[in-house]
Amino acid sequence: MSTIHPLRLRAFITQIDSTGGPDACWTWRGDLYDGYGRLGRKGDQAHRVAYELMVRPIPAGMVIDHLCHNHDESCPGGSGCVHRRCVNPAHLEAVTQRDNVLRSPHTMPNRNAAKTECPQGHPYDEANTYSRRTPQGRARRECRTCRRERLARRAAA
Ligand SMILES: [Zn+2]
Ligand SMILES: [Zn+2]
Ligand SMILES: [Zn+2]
Repeated sequence: MSTIHPLRLRAFITQIDSTGGPDACWTWRGDLYDGYGRLGRKGDQAHRVAYELMVRPIPAGMVIDHLCHNHDESCPGGSGCVHRRCVNPAHLEAVTQRDNVLRSPHTMPNRNAAKTECPQGHPYDEANTYSRRTPQGRARRECRTCRRERLARRAAA
């Protein structure tokens, strides 16, 4: 776990905008690097520090995933992603690098190797696919068309 000096801790806390409340994204107002908050130019990533301070030490080999990013299907991703600078510990989760990639709605590295259609025959392409977590914490691809139809059926019932 990275240690943090009390004065740096104070500086860290004052750079968090948590005015949106406990459920909102807490925006880092300090330095950014590739969209991620940083403690100083060469410092640690702000969301990693937030996780270690407010949740627990990050286990070796794990990366911090932004759940708010995974749940926002309209986010274009990349360095313009507003979630990268979010340091709300409720939005952060330690996952393996592999899960992190699999869970992102923006990267589907296995999409060519895996099935190309949902069970109903809708294409698993970028526009029609979102990822969801199973109760076991695994990423799973889901079909947007099927979800739409499920919701429509539920609304009609
Ligand atoms: Zn967030
Ligand atoms: Zn995002
Ligand atoms: Zn489908």
